[in-house]
Amino acid sequence: MVVPSGFVEVADRVLVARYPQWNVNVGLVLGRDGAVVVDTRASDRQGSEVQGDIRALGRDIVVRHVVNTHVHFDHTFGNSAFASATVHAHDNVGRTFVADAERIKAEFRADPGDGPEYGYTEADAAAVLATVVRGPDCTFGKGATIDLGDRVVTLAYAGRGHTDGDIAVHVPDTDAMFLGDLIEESAPPSFGGDCWPLDWADTLGSHQNWLGPASVVVPGHGRCVDAAFVERQRSEIAAVAAVIRERRIAGQSWAAAVAEPDERLAYPLDGLEAAFRRGFDQYLGSV
Ligand SMILES: [Zn+2]
Repeated sequence: MVVPSGFVEVADRVLVARYPQWNVNVGLVLGRDGAVVVDTRASDRQGSEVQGDIRALGRDIVVRHVVNTHVHFDHTFGNSAFASATVHAHDNVGRTFVADAERIKAEFRADPGDGPEYGYTEADAAAVLATVVRGPDCTFGKGATIDLGDRVVTLAYAGRGHTDGDIAVHVPDTDAMFLGDLIEESAPPSFGGDCWPLDWADTLGSHQNWLGPASVVVPGHGRCVDAAFVERQRSEIAAVAAVIRERRIAGQSWAAAVAEPDERLAYPLDGLEAAFRRGFDQYLGSV
């Protein structure tokens, strides 16, 4: 996997840097009164590297705001490297941040995971554990606006999906939008233990109202995509929900449902276990 280093401009004064660890994207939106960083990578150390990459642009950039697209560590643990910036996120990120950070640290302690597959080293995993996490300073329910003097950056929540706190970050004077892990390019969308598979496609559908033929969409992981890609992935996620609903209504057990292939499913079944479990639980009203 070859990942270009440093920030690349994808729209007027909207830049994206891709990092090999977890193949994660970091955004940078420049304005007259400062800059916004979108997501901060997986540790204090990696956040500091982002600071270095911003300095390497050779412009006089002051990061006044950080936005977290959702709660997961690979997007938030670098927050602490941006001490003088205000960190923005959805209310649900504020509510779950500490517990989620403790959960992921416990998981790393128990099993450092498959580093090479996700592009990280033992030192990267150790840095995750060593990070003194910093959650959002400023949270919102439906939407928020960051004023950079000559332009604004809008933050929008449209419902649950990859987590219960995913937001879209839009720069309305451009065609650029960040969708966090509501969209993934380098791997199938991640259905983890905190996903909402039955809601996800509708949430994406709301954000799609802002997209057009010229849109540049920055996913949480992988290369930038266009509106057609988002629609394709939305329909694949809708198909996952449809299969979950159908099997739940048919009275299948969870174990049988998650073991049965279906040509409508675009993703490997072993990545959908949590989706089926969460979807079945949602029907039973237990989540
Ligand atoms: Zn995520």
